[in-house]
Amino acid sequence: MPIYEYFCLKCKKEFEELVLNKEEEVKCPACGSKNLERKFSTFATQGLEKNVGSKSCSSCHATSCKTCR
Ligand SMILES: [Zn+2]
Repeated sequence: MPIYEYFCLKCKKEFEELVLNKEEEVKCPACGSKNLERKFSTFATQGLEKNVGSKSCSSCHATSCKTCR
């Protein structure tokens, strides 16, 4: 799912919005303005993969043992 980072041009607030629907209108959570600038987008799943994939438990160096997960 894409997460977009927005910058409100009205009140200068930055916030992230998980956009489920491309057509969904995004409003500033602080002032409700739709005058937003989209800064960049990333994918939540990609970010998680990076952490989860390289994660191992502290007692072994494998990624699958009894104490892993
Ligand atoms: Zn705002």
